[in-house]
Amino acid sequence: MTPKDIHSFARPEEAVVEHLSLNLNVDFNAKIISGTATLSIKNKTGANQIHLDSKGLNISSVVLDSGEPTSYSMADAVEYLGSDLTVAIKPETKKIVITYSTSPDAGALQWLDPAQTNGGTQPFLFTQSQAILARTWIPLQDSPGIKFTYDATIKVPSNLMALMSAENDTTLHPDGIYRFNMPQAIPSYLMALAVGDLQFRSLGPNCGVFAEPAMIEKSAWEFADLHDMITSAESLYGPYAWGRYDVLVLPPSFPFGGMENPRITFATPTIIAGDRSLVALIAHELAHSWSGNLVTNATWNDFWLNEGFTVYFETRIMEKIYGKDYADMLTLLSLGELRETIKAMGDTSKDTHLYLDLAGRDPDDGVSDIAYEKGRFFLTSIEYAIGRERWDAFLNSYFKKHAWGAIDTKTFLVYLESELIKGDEKLRKQINAEGWIYAPGLPANCPEIKSTELEKAGNAATAYKSGIPAKTIDTKGWTTHHWMYFLRNLNDSLDLKKMKELDAAFGFTNSGNSEILCEWYQHAIASGYEIAFPNMEKFLMTVGRRKFLKPIYSELAKTQKGLEMGRQIYQKARPGYHAVSIQTIDGILGLKK
Ligand SMILES: [Zn+2]
Repeated sequence: MTPKDIHSFARPEEAVVEHLSLNLNVDFNAKIISGTATLSIKNKTGANQIHLDSKGLNISSVVLDSGEPTSYSMADAVEYLGSDLTVAIKPETKKIVITYSTSPDAGALQWLDPAQTNGGTQPFLFTQSQAILARTWIPLQDSPGIKFTYDATIKVPSNLMALMSAENDTTLHPDGIYRFNMPQAIPSYLMALAVGDLQFRSLGPNCGVFAEPAMIEKSAWEFADLHDMITSAESLYGPYAWGRYDVLVLPPSFPFGGMENPRITFATPTIIAGDRSLVALIAHELAHSWSGNLVTNATWNDFWLNEGFTVYFETRIMEKIYGKDYADMLTLLSLGELRETIKAMGDTSKDTHLYLDLAGRDPDDGVSDIAYEKGRFFLTSIEYAIGRERWDAFLNSYFKKHAWGAIDTKTFLVYLESELIKGDEKLRKQINAEGWIYAPGLPANCPEIKSTELEKAGNAATAYKSGIPAKTIDTKGWTTHHWMYFLRNLNDSLDLKKMKELDAAFGFTNSGNSEILCEWYQHAIASGYEIAFPNMEKFLMTVGRRKFLKPIYSELAKTQKGLEMGRQIYQKARPGYHAVSIQTIDGILGLKK
Protein backbone atom coordinates (compact mmCIF):
# COMPACT_ATOMS: atom_id res chain seq x y z
CA MET A 1 0.00 0.00 0.00
CA THR A 2 1.62 3.24 -1.19
CA PRO A 3 1.28 6.16 1.23
CA LYS A 4 -0.59 9.28 0.14
CA ASP A 5 1.66 11.74 -1.71
CA ILE A 6 0.84 15.20 -0.34
CA HIS A 7 2.47 16.85 -3.37
CA SER A 8 0.15 15.38 -6.00
CA PHE A 9 -3.57 15.50 -6.80
CA ALA A 10 -3.43 12.03 -8.38
CA ARG A 11 -5.57 9.24 -6.96
CA PRO A 12 -3.77 6.20 -8.36
CA GLU A 13 -5.85 3.86 -6.24
CA GLU A 14 -8.84 4.85 -8.47
CA ALA A 15 -7.39 5.37 -11.95
CA VAL A 16 -3.71 5.39 -12.84
CA VAL A 17 -1.59 6.31 -15.87
CA GLU A 18 0.37 3.36 -17.31
CA HIS A 19 1.76 4.80 -20.55
CA LEU A 20 2.33 8.29 -21.90
CA SER A 21 2.60 9.17 -25.58
CA LEU A 22 3.79 12.69 -26.43
CA ASN A 23 3.56 14.49 -29.74
CA LEU A 24 5.11 17.92 -29.19
CA ASN A 25 6.50 20.87 -31.05
CA VAL A 26 9.28 22.96 -29.48
CA ASP A 27 8.93 26.64 -30.37
CA PHE A 28 12.04 28.62 -29.39
CA ASN A 29 10.60 31.95 -30.53
CA ALA A 30 7.50 31.78 -28.36
CA LYS A 31 9.29 29.72 -25.67
CA ILE A 32 6.39 27.28 -25.71
CA ILE A 33 6.01 23.53 -26.10
CA SER A 34 2.67 22.45 -27.55
CA GLY A 35 0.94 19.36 -28.84
CA THR A 36 -0.75 16.31 -27.37
CA ALA A 37 -0.21 14.03 -24.40
CA THR A 38 -2.03 10.71 -24.75
CA LEU A 39 -2.39 8.94 -21.42
CA SER A 40 -3.14 5.21 -21.38
CA ILE A 41 -4.90 4.55 -18.12
CA LYS A 42 -6.05 1.72 -15.94
CA ASN A 43 -9.39 2.42 -14.34
CA LYS A 44 -9.14 0.26 -11.24
CA THR A 45 -12.45 1.03 -9.58
CA GLY A 46 -14.67 1.97 -12.52
CA ALA A 47 -14.18 5.61 -11.52
CA ASN A 48 -15.96 8.32 -13.53
CA GLN A 49 -13.06 10.73 -13.33
CA ILE A 50 -9.27 10.74 -13.23
CA HIS A 51 -7.15 13.29 -11.34
CA LEU A 52 -4.02 14.69 -12.95
CA ASP A 53 -1.46 17.33 -11.98
CA SER A 54 -0.92 20.44 -14.05
CA LYS A 55 0.67 23.80 -13.39
CA GLY A 56 0.34 26.73 -15.77
CA LEU A 57 -0.69 24.51 -18.71
CA ASN A 58 -3.17 25.80 -21.28
CA ILE A 59 -5.49 22.93 -22.11
CA SER A 60 -7.42 23.35 -25.38
CA SER A 61 -9.24 20.00 -25.56
CA VAL A 62 -9.53 16.59 -23.97
CA VAL A 63 -10.93 13.59 -25.83
CA LEU A 64 -11.31 9.91 -24.91
CA ASP A 65 -10.18 6.85 -26.84
CA SER A 66 -11.14 7.24 -30.51
CA GLY A 67 -11.92 10.94 -30.38
CA GLU A 68 -14.99 11.28 -28.19
CA PRO A 69 -14.94 14.71 -26.47
CA THR A 70 -15.19 14.72 -22.69
CA SER A 71 -15.51 17.33 -19.98
CA TYR A 72 -12.69 18.38 -17.71
CA SER A 73 -12.16 20.94 -15.00
CA MET A 74 -9.13 22.77 -13.71
CA ALA A 75 -9.37 23.52 -9.99
CA ASP A 76 -7.97 26.74 -8.49
CA ALA A 77 -4.18 26.61 -8.28
CA VAL A 78 -2.63 25.68 -4.93
CA GLU A 79 0.72 27.21 -4.02
CA TYR A 80 3.64 25.09 -5.31
CA LEU A 81 1.30 22.29 -6.42
CA GLY A 82 -0.58 23.87 -9.30
CA SER A 83 -4.05 22.60 -10.21
CA ASP A 84 -6.01 19.40 -9.91
CA LEU A 85 -6.98 18.63 -13.52
CA THR A 86 -10.01 16.36 -13.37
CA VAL A 87 -11.09 14.57 -16.55
CA ALA A 88 -14.43 12.78 -16.88
CA ILE A 89 -13.92 9.16 -17.96
CA LYS A 90 -15.97 6.00 -18.27
CA PRO A 91 -15.31 2.64 -16.65
CA GLU A 92 -14.17 1.31 -20.04
CA THR A 93 -11.96 4.32 -20.97
CA LYS A 94 -8.46 3.29 -22.07
CA LYS A 95 -7.00 6.54 -23.39
CA ILE A 96 -7.20 10.28 -22.74
CA VAL A 97 -5.81 12.66 -25.37
CA ILE A 98 -4.99 16.12 -24.02
CA THR A 99 -4.13 18.94 -26.41
CA TYR A 100 -2.19 21.63 -24.58
CA SER A 101 0.62 24.14 -24.51
CA THR A 102 3.05 25.22 -21.80
CA SER A 103 3.30 28.75 -20.46
CA PRO A 104 6.49 30.76 -21.15
CA ASP A 105 7.37 30.70 -17.44
CA ALA A 106 6.97 26.91 -17.01
CA GLY A 107 9.21 25.99 -14.06
CA ALA A 108 10.66 22.84 -15.65
CA LEU A 109 11.76 24.52 -18.86
CA GLN A 110 14.86 26.62 -19.18
CA TRP A 111 15.12 28.40 -22.50
CA LEU A 112 18.64 29.69 -23.14
CA ASP A 113 19.52 32.43 -25.57
CA PRO A 114 22.55 31.66 -27.78
CA ALA A 115 24.67 33.94 -25.55
CA GLN A 116 24.02 31.62 -22.59
CA THR A 117 25.52 28.60 -24.37
CA ASN A 118 29.14 27.66 -24.99
CA GLY A 119 28.83 27.90 -28.75
CA GLY A 120 27.06 31.24 -28.62
CA THR A 121 25.17 30.80 -31.89
CA GLN A 122 22.22 28.46 -31.18
CA PRO A 123 19.52 28.53 -28.51
CA PHE A 124 19.19 25.68 -26.02
CA LEU A 125 16.35 24.13 -24.04
CA PHE A 126 16.54 21.72 -21.15
CA THR A 127 13.99 20.42 -18.67
CA GLN A 128 14.34 19.77 -14.96
CA SER A 129 11.28 17.86 -13.73
CA GLN A 130 12.36 16.92 -10.21
CA ALA A 131 10.79 17.39 -7.78
CA ILE A 132 7.29 18.48 -8.87
CA LEU A 133 7.94 20.40 -12.08
CA ALA A 134 6.99 17.71 -14.64
CA ARG A 135 3.43 19.05 -14.32
CA THR A 136 4.57 22.40 -15.77
CA TRP A 137 5.32 20.80 -19.16
CA ILE A 138 3.16 17.66 -19.27
CA PRO A 139 -0.30 16.97 -17.82
CA LEU A 140 0.22 13.75 -15.86
CA GLN A 141 0.16 12.11 -12.45
CA ASP A 142 3.20 13.81 -10.97
CA SER A 143 4.02 11.57 -8.04
CA PRO A 144 7.23 9.52 -7.63
CA GLY A 145 5.31 6.40 -6.62
CA ILE A 146 3.52 6.22 -10.00
CA LYS A 147 5.54 4.69 -12.85
CA PHE A 148 4.72 4.55 -16.54
CA THR A 149 6.41 3.84 -19.88
CA TYR A 150 6.47 6.47 -22.60
CA ASP A 151 7.09 7.26 -26.24
CA ALA A 152 7.43 10.66 -27.86
CA THR A 153 7.64 12.44 -31.19
CA ILE A 154 9.35 15.80 -30.77
CA LYS A 155 9.67 18.44 -33.50
CA VAL A 156 12.55 20.91 -33.09
CA PRO A 157 14.35 23.41 -35.38
CA SER A 158 16.17 21.42 -38.04
CA ASN A 159 19.70 22.42 -36.96
CA LEU A 160 19.23 21.22 -33.36
CA MET A 161 19.33 17.78 -31.76
CA ALA A 162 16.72 16.51 -29.29
CA LEU A 163 17.46 14.04 -26.49
CA MET A 164 15.16 12.45 -23.91
CA SER A 165 15.36 10.12 -20.91
CA ALA A 166 14.73 7.29 -23.39
CA GLU A 167 16.45 5.43 -26.22
CA ASN A 168 18.42 8.14 -28.02
CA ASP A 169 19.83 8.46 -31.50
CA THR A 170 23.32 10.00 -31.64
CA THR A 171 23.00 11.89 -34.90
CA LEU A 172 21.28 15.05 -36.10
CA HIS A 173 17.96 14.53 -37.92
CA PRO A 174 17.81 17.08 -40.78
CA ASP A 175 13.99 17.16 -40.64
CA GLY A 176 14.07 18.11 -36.94
CA ILE A 177 11.77 15.22 -35.99
CA TYR A 178 12.92 12.86 -33.22
CA ARG A 179 11.11 9.73 -32.09
CA PHE A 180 11.76 8.29 -28.67
CA ASN A 181 10.82 5.11 -26.89
CA MET A 182 11.14 4.40 -23.18
CA PRO A 183 10.12 0.77 -22.63
CA GLN A 184 10.96 0.79 -18.91
CA ALA A 185 8.53 2.36 -16.46
CA ILE A 186 9.74 5.56 -14.77
CA PRO A 187 8.24 8.12 -12.38
CA SER A 188 7.25 11.53 -13.77
CA TYR A 189 10.21 13.38 -12.21
CA LEU A 190 12.49 11.50 -14.61
CA MET A 191 10.75 12.87 -17.72
CA ALA A 192 13.46 14.85 -19.48
CA LEU A 193 14.09 16.65 -22.75
CA ALA A 194 17.06 18.66 -24.02
CA VAL A 195 17.34 20.46 -27.36
CA GLY A 196 20.49 22.12 -28.60
CA ASP A 197 23.50 22.14 -30.87
CA LEU A 198 24.92 18.82 -29.69
CA GLN A 199 27.48 16.22 -30.66
CA PHE A 200 28.18 12.72 -29.41
CA ARG A 201 31.37 10.82 -28.51
CA SER A 202 31.38 7.16 -27.62
CA LEU A 203 33.22 6.21 -24.42
CA GLY A 204 32.64 2.47 -24.48
CA PRO A 205 30.29 -0.23 -25.73
CA ASN A 206 27.29 1.06 -23.77
CA CYS A 207 28.18 4.64 -22.85
CA GLY A 208 29.16 8.03 -24.21
CA VAL A 209 28.83 11.77 -23.86
CA PHE A 210 26.75 14.47 -25.56
CA ALA A 211 27.86 18.11 -25.40
CA GLU A 212 27.97 21.30 -27.39
CA PRO A 213 30.73 21.16 -30.05
CA ALA A 214 32.92 23.54 -28.00
CA MET A 215 32.77 21.20 -24.99
CA ILE A 216 32.73 17.75 -26.57
CA GLU A 217 36.48 17.00 -26.56
CA LYS A 218 37.01 18.29 -23.00
CA SER A 219 33.98 16.33 -21.80
CA ALA A 220 35.08 13.09 -23.46
CA TRP A 221 38.51 13.43 -21.83
CA GLU A 222 37.06 14.21 -18.40
CA PHE A 223 34.72 11.20 -18.41
CA ALA A 224 37.23 8.65 -19.72
CA ASP A 225 36.51 6.38 -16.71
CA LEU A 226 32.77 6.19 -17.45
CA HIS A 227 32.81 2.57 -18.60
CA ASP A 228 34.88 1.57 -15.55
CA MET A 229 32.33 3.25 -13.34
CA ILE A 230 29.51 1.22 -14.85
CA THR A 231 31.32 -2.11 -14.48
CA SER A 232 32.35 -1.18 -10.90
CA ALA A 233 28.76 -0.32 -10.02
CA GLU A 234 27.51 -3.58 -11.52
CA SER A 235 30.07 -5.59 -9.57
CA LEU A 236 28.72 -4.04 -6.36
CA TYR A 237 24.94 -4.15 -6.67
CA GLY A 238 23.93 -6.06 -9.81
CA PRO A 239 23.39 -5.50 -13.53
CA TYR A 240 22.74 -2.03 -14.96
CA ALA A 241 19.08 -2.19 -15.95
CA TRP A 242 18.69 0.61 -18.48
CA GLY A 243 20.61 -0.38 -21.61
CA ARG A 244 22.87 2.58 -22.43
CA TYR A 245 24.31 5.11 -19.99
CA ASP A 246 25.16 8.46 -21.56
CA VAL A 247 25.98 11.85 -20.05
CA LEU A 248 24.75 15.15 -21.47
CA VAL A 249 26.91 18.15 -20.53
CA LEU A 250 24.61 21.16 -20.32
CA PRO A 251 25.37 24.87 -20.52
CA PRO A 252 26.46 26.39 -17.16
CA SER A 253 23.07 27.72 -16.07
CA PHE A 254 21.89 24.20 -15.12
CA PRO A 255 20.85 24.60 -11.47
CA PHE A 256 22.06 21.22 -10.22
CA GLY A 257 25.29 19.25 -10.32
CA GLY A 258 23.53 16.49 -12.16
CA MET A 259 20.13 15.01 -12.77
CA GLU A 260 19.82 11.26 -13.00
CA ASN A 261 17.49 11.13 -16.00
CA PRO A 262 17.42 7.46 -17.02
CA ARG A 263 19.82 6.48 -19.81
CA ILE A 264 21.06 10.07 -19.99
CA THR A 265 22.37 11.93 -16.96
CA PHE A 266 22.15 15.72 -17.32
CA ALA A 267 25.31 17.29 -15.88
CA THR A 268 26.71 20.72 -15.10
CA PRO A 269 29.86 21.74 -17.03
CA THR A 270 31.34 22.94 -13.69
CA ILE A 271 32.61 19.38 -13.15
CA ILE A 272 34.82 19.64 -16.24
CA ALA A 273 37.88 20.67 -14.22
CA GLY A 274 40.50 19.50 -16.73
CA ASP A 275 41.97 17.00 -14.26
CA ARG A 276 39.09 14.52 -13.73
CA SER A 277 38.94 15.61 -10.08
CA LEU A 278 35.20 16.21 -9.91
CA VAL A 279 33.85 13.07 -11.60
CA ALA A 280 32.40 11.72 -8.33
CA LEU A 281 29.29 13.55 -9.48
CA ILE A 282 29.00 11.16 -12.42
CA ALA A 283 29.42 8.19 -10.06
CA HIS A 284 26.54 9.70 -8.07
CA GLU A 285 24.19 10.06 -11.03
CA LEU A 286 25.12 6.59 -12.27
CA ALA A 287 24.37 5.12 -8.82
CA HIS A 288 20.87 6.58 -9.12
CA SER A 289 20.27 4.00 -11.88
CA TRP A 290 19.76 1.64 -8.91
CA SER A 291 18.74 3.87 -5.97
CA GLY A 292 16.08 6.27 -7.17
CA ASN A 293 15.42 5.23 -10.74
CA LEU A 294 14.96 1.51 -10.02
CA VAL A 295 13.99 1.66 -6.33
CA THR A 296 12.17 4.98 -5.98
CA ASN A 297 11.17 7.05 -2.95
CA ALA A 298 7.38 6.79 -2.69
CA THR A 299 6.98 10.43 -1.65
CA TRP A 300 9.32 13.41 -1.28
CA ASN A 301 9.22 12.97 2.52
CA ASP A 302 11.14 9.73 1.85
CA PHE A 303 13.75 11.53 -0.29
CA TRP A 304 16.60 10.16 1.83
CA LEU A 305 15.85 6.70 0.40
CA ASN A 306 16.84 8.08 -3.02
CA GLU A 307 19.76 10.25 -2.00
CA GLY A 308 21.26 8.60 1.09
CA PHE A 309 21.58 5.28 -0.74
CA THR A 310 22.98 7.04 -3.79
CA VAL A 311 25.71 8.91 -1.92
CA TYR A 312 26.68 5.69 -0.15
CA PHE A 313 26.79 3.83 -3.49
CA GLU A 314 28.67 6.69 -5.19
CA THR A 315 31.41 6.51 -2.57
CA ARG A 316 31.72 2.76 -3.03
CA ILE A 317 32.17 3.24 -6.80
CA MET A 318 34.81 5.91 -6.19
CA GLU A 319 36.62 3.65 -3.72
CA LYS A 320 36.61 0.77 -6.21
CA ILE A 321 38.12 2.86 -8.99
CA TYR A 322 40.37 5.37 -7.22
CA GLY A 323 41.14 3.63 -3.92
CA LYS A 324 40.25 4.06 -0.26
CA ASP A 325 42.44 7.12 0.41
CA TYR A 326 40.63 8.99 -2.34
CA ALA A 327 37.17 7.94 -1.16
CA ASP A 328 38.06 8.89 2.43
CA MET A 329 38.87 12.43 1.28
CA LEU A 330 35.43 12.78 -0.31
CA THR A 331 33.72 11.30 2.75
CA LEU A 332 35.48 13.51 5.28
CA LEU A 333 34.74 16.65 3.24
CA SER A 334 31.08 15.63 3.17
CA LEU A 335 30.97 14.98 6.90
CA GLY A 336 32.27 18.50 7.48
CA GLU A 337 29.55 19.89 5.20
CA LEU A 338 26.90 17.85 7.01
CA ARG A 339 28.00 19.16 10.41
CA GLU A 340 27.84 22.72 9.03
CA THR A 341 24.34 22.10 7.66
CA ILE A 342 23.10 20.77 10.99
CA LYS A 343 24.70 23.70 12.82
CA ALA A 344 22.99 26.15 10.47
CA MET A 345 19.59 24.46 10.74
CA GLY A 346 19.83 24.01 14.49
CA ASP A 347 20.40 20.60 16.02
CA THR A 348 16.79 20.30 17.16
CA SER A 349 15.33 21.16 13.75
CA LYS A 350 12.84 18.62 12.39
CA ASP A 351 14.36 19.27 8.96
CA THR A 352 17.42 17.37 10.20
CA HIS A 353 15.34 14.17 10.52
CA LEU A 354 15.90 11.78 7.64
CA TYR A 355 12.15 11.37 7.27
CA LEU A 356 10.90 14.83 6.29
CA ASP A 357 7.62 16.61 6.76
CA LEU A 358 7.27 18.74 3.63
CA ALA A 359 3.56 19.48 3.97
CA GLY A 360 2.74 22.95 2.64
CA ARG A 361 6.22 23.38 1.20
CA ASP A 362 7.87 23.01 -2.17
CA PRO A 363 9.94 19.81 -1.88
CA ASP A 364 12.79 21.62 -3.66
CA ASP A 365 12.89 24.08 -0.75
CA GLY A 366 12.72 21.47 1.98
CA VAL A 367 15.56 19.25 0.86
CA SER A 368 19.11 19.81 2.02
CA ASP A 369 22.32 17.94 2.70
CA ILE A 370 20.42 15.91 5.27
CA ALA A 371 18.78 13.47 2.84
CA TYR A 372 22.11 13.00 1.08
CA GLU A 373 24.73 13.02 3.79
CA LYS A 374 22.93 12.10 6.99
CA GLY A 375 21.33 9.36 4.90
CA ARG A 376 24.73 8.16 3.72
CA PHE A 377 26.28 8.18 7.18
CA PHE A 378 23.31 6.21 8.53
CA LEU A 379 24.00 3.50 5.94
CA THR A 380 27.75 3.70 6.57
CA SER A 381 27.10 3.21 10.29
CA ILE A 382 25.18 0.01 9.52
CA GLU A 383 28.07 -1.20 7.37
CA TYR A 384 30.44 -0.55 10.27
CA ALA A 385 28.13 -2.36 12.68
CA ILE A 386 27.69 -5.59 10.71
CA GLY A 387 30.64 -5.67 8.33
CA ARG A 388 30.80 -4.97 4.63
CA GLU A 389 30.09 -8.48 3.41
CA ARG A 390 26.79 -8.83 5.23
CA TRP A 391 25.80 -5.26 4.38
CA ASP A 392 26.48 -5.71 0.67
CA ALA A 393 24.42 -8.89 0.65
CA PHE A 394 21.56 -6.94 2.21
CA LEU A 395 21.85 -4.13 -0.34
CA ASN A 396 21.93 -6.55 -3.25
CA SER A 397 18.71 -8.17 -2.09
CA TYR A 398 17.18 -4.74 -1.32
CA PHE A 399 17.75 -3.53 -4.89
CA LYS A 400 16.56 -6.81 -6.40
CA LYS A 401 13.44 -7.08 -4.25
CA HIS A 402 12.25 -3.47 -4.77
CA ALA A 403 13.37 -2.93 -8.39
CA TRP A 404 10.81 -1.11 -10.60
CA GLY A 405 8.80 -0.19 -7.51
CA ALA A 406 8.54 2.58 -4.97
CA ILE A 407 9.35 2.39 -1.28
CA ASP A 408 8.57 4.54 1.74
CA THR A 409 10.47 4.85 5.00
CA LYS A 410 8.15 2.58 7.01
CA THR A 411 8.45 -0.21 4.44
CA PHE A 412 12.22 0.16 4.50
CA LEU A 413 12.26 -0.23 8.28
CA VAL A 414 10.11 -3.37 8.10
CA TYR A 415 12.48 -4.77 5.46
CA LEU A 416 15.55 -3.88 7.53
CA GLU A 417 14.02 -5.68 10.50
CA SER A 418 13.00 -8.81 8.60
CA GLU A 419 16.13 -9.21 6.46
CA LEU A 420 18.91 -7.85 8.63
CA ILE A 421 18.07 -7.26 12.28
CA LYS A 422 15.95 -10.42 12.55
CA GLY A 423 15.01 -9.84 16.17
CA ASP A 424 18.59 -9.20 17.34
CA GLU A 425 17.87 -6.69 20.11
CA LYS A 426 21.52 -5.72 20.54
CA LEU A 427 21.96 -5.05 16.83
CA ARG A 428 18.70 -3.08 16.70
CA LYS A 429 19.98 -0.79 19.47
CA GLN A 430 23.37 -0.50 17.83
CA ILE A 431 21.91 0.51 14.45
CA ASN A 432 19.52 2.96 16.10
CA ALA A 433 17.42 3.44 12.96
CA GLU A 434 14.75 5.43 14.80
CA GLY A 435 17.41 7.84 16.08
CA TRP A 436 18.65 8.50 12.57
CA ILE A 437 15.27 8.70 10.85
CA TYR A 438 12.89 10.32 13.32
CA ALA A 439 15.22 12.43 15.49
CA PRO A 440 17.30 15.56 14.85
CA GLY A 441 21.05 16.06 14.59
CA LEU A 442 23.65 13.32 14.33
CA PRO A 443 23.28 10.19 16.51
CA ALA A 444 26.21 9.08 18.65
CA ASN A 445 26.90 6.11 16.37
CA CYS A 446 27.77 8.39 13.43
CA PRO A 447 31.02 7.00 12.04
CA GLU A 448 34.29 8.83 12.59
CA ILE A 449 36.08 9.37 9.29
CA LYS A 450 39.85 9.65 9.04
CA SER A 451 41.69 10.79 5.95
CA THR A 452 45.47 10.78 6.04
CA GLU A 453 45.52 12.79 2.82
CA LEU A 454 43.29 15.57 4.12
CA GLU A 455 45.24 15.58 7.36
CA LYS A 456 48.18 16.92 5.33
CA ALA A 457 46.05 19.79 4.03
CA GLY A 458 44.63 20.42 7.51
CA ASN A 459 48.12 20.55 9.02
CA ALA A 460 49.21 22.95 6.29
CA ALA A 461 46.28 25.23 7.16
CA THR A 462 47.21 25.14 10.85
CA ALA A 463 50.83 25.92 10.04
CA TYR A 464 49.82 28.81 7.80
CA LYS A 465 47.55 30.25 10.46
CA SER A 466 50.44 30.11 12.92
CA GLY A 467 52.53 32.27 10.61
CA ILE A 468 54.62 30.26 8.15
CA PRO A 469 54.80 31.83 4.64
CA ALA A 470 52.35 30.47 2.04
CA LYS A 471 55.04 29.72 -0.51
CA THR A 472 56.81 27.31 1.85
CA ILE A 473 53.78 25.01 2.11
CA ASP A 474 54.41 21.68 0.40
CA THR A 475 51.42 21.18 -1.90
CA LYS A 476 52.95 18.57 -4.17
CA GLY A 477 50.34 16.04 -5.32
CA TRP A 478 47.42 17.99 -3.90
CA THR A 479 44.04 17.35 -5.51
CA THR A 480 40.98 19.59 -5.62
CA HIS A 481 39.95 17.98 -2.33
CA HIS A 482 43.19 18.92 -0.53
CA TRP A 483 42.70 22.51 -1.65
CA MET A 484 39.09 22.58 -0.52
CA TYR A 485 40.00 21.21 2.89
CA PHE A 486 42.91 23.64 3.21
CA LEU A 487 40.70 26.62 2.38
CA ARG A 488 37.90 25.47 4.70
CA ASN A 489 40.32 25.07 7.57
CA LEU A 490 41.52 28.65 7.28
CA ASN A 491 38.11 29.57 8.70
CA ASP A 492 37.68 33.32 9.13
CA SER A 493 41.32 33.92 9.93
CA LEU A 494 42.24 35.68 6.71
CA ASP A 495 42.97 39.40 6.54
CA LEU A 496 43.76 41.28 3.35
CA LYS A 497 47.47 40.73 3.66
CA LYS A 498 47.06 36.98 3.97
CA MET A 499 44.57 36.86 1.09
CA LYS A 500 47.07 38.64 -1.15
CA GLU A 501 49.85 36.32 -0.08
CA LEU A 502 47.77 33.17 -0.73
CA ASP A 503 46.63 34.46 -4.10
CA ALA A 504 50.21 35.26 -5.13
CA ALA A 505 51.39 31.81 -4.04
CA PHE A 506 48.52 29.67 -5.42
CA GLY A 507 46.61 31.80 -7.95
CA PHE A 508 43.18 31.09 -6.46
CA THR A 509 41.40 34.05 -8.07
CA ASN A 510 42.30 32.74 -11.53
CA SER A 511 41.61 29.06 -10.78
CA GLY A 512 39.53 27.20 -13.38
CA ASN A 513 38.11 24.88 -10.72
CA SER A 514 34.59 25.76 -9.62
CA GLU A 515 34.84 24.02 -6.22
CA ILE A 516 38.04 25.88 -5.31
CA LEU A 517 36.63 29.17 -6.59
CA CYS A 518 33.51 28.75 -4.48
CA GLU A 519 35.61 28.35 -1.30
CA TRP A 520 37.93 31.18 -2.27
CA TYR A 521 35.17 33.69 -3.05
CA GLN A 522 33.64 33.16 0.38
CA HIS A 523 36.98 34.12 1.94
CA ALA A 524 37.27 37.07 -0.44
CA ILE A 525 33.88 38.42 0.63
CA ALA A 526 34.56 37.90 4.35
CA SER A 527 37.91 39.68 4.20
CA GLY A 528 36.93 42.38 1.67
CA TYR A 529 39.51 41.14 -0.85
CA GLU A 530 38.20 43.19 -3.77
CA ILE A 531 40.77 41.96 -6.29
CA ALA A 532 38.72 38.74 -6.57
CA PHE A 533 35.37 40.50 -7.06
CA PRO A 534 35.42 40.98 -10.87
CA ASN A 535 36.09 37.25 -11.38
CA MET A 536 33.48 36.39 -8.78
CA GLU A 537 30.94 38.51 -10.60
CA LYS A 538 31.80 36.77 -13.86
CA PHE A 539 31.37 33.41 -12.12
CA LEU A 540 27.96 34.40 -10.75
CA MET A 541 26.92 35.70 -14.16
CA THR A 542 27.70 32.43 -15.97
CA VAL A 543 27.27 29.61 -13.46
CA GLY A 544 23.71 28.76 -12.36
CA ARG A 545 24.52 25.79 -10.13
CA ARG A 546 22.70 26.36 -6.88
CA LYS A 547 25.35 24.56 -4.82
CA PHE A 548 27.78 27.42 -5.63
CA LEU A 549 25.33 30.32 -5.77
CA LYS A 550 23.92 29.59 -2.32
CA PRO A 551 27.11 29.94 -0.19
CA ILE A 552 28.45 32.90 -2.19
CA TYR A 553 25.23 34.93 -2.04
CA SER A 554 24.78 33.91 1.62
CA GLU A 555 28.24 35.23 2.46
CA LEU A 556 27.44 38.47 0.61
CA ALA A 557 24.16 38.82 2.51
CA LYS A 558 25.98 38.87 5.85
CA THR A 559 26.78 42.61 5.66
CA GLN A 560 24.79 45.56 4.33
CA LYS A 561 27.52 46.44 1.85
CA GLY A 562 27.77 42.85 0.67
CA LEU A 563 24.01 42.53 0.37
CA GLU A 564 23.88 45.58 -1.87
CA MET A 565 26.63 44.19 -4.07
CA GLY A 566 24.93 40.79 -4.14
CA ARG A 567 21.63 42.32 -5.19
CA GLN A 568 23.34 44.34 -7.93
CA ILE A 569 25.02 41.28 -9.41
CA TYR A 570 21.89 39.19 -8.97
CA GLN A 571 19.74 41.68 -10.83
CA LYS A 572 21.88 41.10 -13.92
CA ALA A 573 22.42 37.38 -13.38
CA ARG A 574 18.88 36.37 -12.40
CA PRO A 575 17.39 36.14 -15.93
CA GLY A 576 20.06 33.54 -16.73
CA TYR A 577 19.32 31.32 -13.71
CA HIS A 578 16.88 28.41 -13.59
CA ALA A 579 13.66 28.79 -11.56
CA VAL A 580 15.03 26.37 -8.95
CA SER A 581 18.04 28.61 -8.25
CA ILE A 582 15.96 31.80 -8.42
CA GLN A 583 13.63 30.47 -5.74
CA THR A 584 16.58 29.91 -3.39
CA ILE A 585 18.54 33.12 -4.09
CA ASP A 586 15.44 35.34 -3.91
CA GLY A 587 15.10 34.07 -0.34
CA ILE A 588 18.75 34.62 0.58
CA LEU A 589 18.76 38.21 -0.70
CA GLY A 590 15.43 39.03 0.95
CA LEU A 591 13.62 39.48 -2.38
CA LYS A 592 10.78 37.02 -1.80
CA LYS A 593 7.38 38.60 -2.08
ZN1 LIG B 1 21.24 12.47 -6.21
